[in-house]
Amino acid sequence: MNPVRTCVGCGQRGNRADLLRFISNSGFLEPDQYKSAQGRGAWLHPWAKCFDQAITRKAFGRALKAIVENRLNPSDLDKFIEQAETMLEN
Ligand SMILES: [Zn+2]
Repeated sequence: MNPVRTCVGCGQRGNRADLLRFISNSGFLEPDQYKSAQGRGAWLHPWAKCFDQAITRKAFGRALKAIVENRLNPSDLDKFIEQAETMLEN
């Protein structure tokens, strides 16, 4: 399996291990903690600027073929990014 994925925010490619994966769960954007959920996934650097870019470009919706933008919960994302940064540091 190709370990390189494209960030839906900045459009740069990165190693699968360094990117977060998001899925659409009944229209809710949800982090895929183990990067193994079935179906479409959107990959993103664990950085707020990439998240902002993805929202501006409506990239999540395009990647997931779902309307997710209007159901985002920013505080969940902050928590998830924090978690992910901790994971990447360890
Ligand atoms: Zn990025």
